[in-house]
Amino acid sequence: MACPLPTASAPALYVSDGYRVRLAPGVLAKALRLARVRAPLETGGLLLGAVVDGEAHVLAITGPGRNAMRGRVGYDADRLHDNRLLERLRPRLRYLGDWHTHPGGPARLSRTDEASVRETLNAERPEVLHLLLSGPSAMQGHVVASVFTAVRGEAAIRRMEPAE
Ligand SMILES: [Zn+2]
Repeated sequence: MACPLPTASAPALYVSDGYRVRLAPGVLAKALRLARVRAPLETGGLLLGAVVDGEAHVLAITGPGRNAMRGRVGYDADRLHDNRLLERLRPRLRYLGDWHTHPGGPARLSRTDEASVRETLNAERPEVLHLLLSGPSAMQGHVVASVFTAVRGEAAIRRMEPAE
């Protein structure tokens, strides 16, 4: 299930079984702002934060690196830029996952999206988050935020349910 983007930047909790993701105030608002700057092209970046008591807290998001490829039907991160940034932020903030947009596209991950989310899983990082913003091509009006958790060894990527 997806939910319309809240107009107020209140904290939002998403759950799936024992997996819990909390978005800090301002995270969705910033993603939406970056989405509108690039619309109708896709954009994206990193989800940064901490894991507190088994709950992932997304505290900050970044925009795309200069060498990220932005297209109408795809988004490829600038991993060199992202990794340099992560080194500067560690250990205060750690990588929790990525986010990207679907201007004029569906509120679900494409096969390519799913493959790139899975690519970020490894033994040290058995779970990753993904935030998808979808809506009209200008990303104005009814924009939907969908939160996913990919778990290493699980066949399907989990779509998190809004819980607050
Ligand atoms: Zn996509």
